[in-house]
Amino acid sequence: MSPHLEVGACSHEGLVRPSNQDAHLANRSLVAVADGMGGHSGGEVASRIVVEELDSIVALAAPAEGQDLLTGALVRAHSRIKEYGVRNPADLRAGTTVVAALLTLRADGPGWLVANVGDSRAYLLRDGQLLQVTTDHSVVTALVEAGLISVDEAEMHPERHVLTRAMSASEAGEPDFFDLPGAYGTRLLLCSDGVSGLVPVEVVGKLLASGSPQQAAERLVAAALAAGGTDNSTAVVADVV
Ligand code: MG
Repeated sequence: MSPHLEVGACSHEGLVRPSNQDAHLANRSLVAVADGMGGHSGGEVASRIVVEELDSIVALAAPAEGQDLLTGALVRAHSRIKEYGVRNPADLRAGTTVVAALLTLRADGPGWLVANVGDSRAYLLRDGQLLQVTTDHSVVTALVEAGLISVDEAEMHPERHVLTRAMSASEAGEPDFFDLPGAYGTRLLLCSDGVSGLVPVEVVGKLLASGSPQQAAERLVAAALAAGGTDNSTAVVADVV
């Protein structure tokens, strides 16, 4: 059988928010998490639109073709978010993050192609080592990179949720791409900031390292709830088999 994903997913509105504006996708070749924000129900609409457009990608592809497929889906999603905002002015400021990972076919075997806009994250577990694949498009990450605040200060910073890039009616949100070879035997986590912002990274690594993808996703969301559940929490876990 050709390489494919074994996936697990869990999403919870948390203990404070009235609704769940996170959306996710988990199929045999593509996983994604989108964290909607702003507007009345617009954040929910924006994150769902992104996931719907990504779900139209069904084929395993070479990395270059995969990048075109992901870009195309995000361009279509942006035009739908824009249309929705124009028709629903109260939701004009609604937007979403997106992190997506496509299983690709390379000459040297399966690989991951990750696309990211905003502060939802991709982590890769390989040989017991946890690697954060994506870099947040956020004010605090920019401040850390500029050497103005420490990583610890970033975690408590009042602007830690402020994004420098997102997908909204006014912003196309050009994605960063990460092309990772050697995907066989790896485990990938995609999560919203309701997981990565509440669960310490050492705990994320520990919970990700055991059980089935579904068990790992459920344990990560349970840990976010135990840590206060102050945001919608979503985890998608995928093994390459
Ligand atoms: Mg969030």
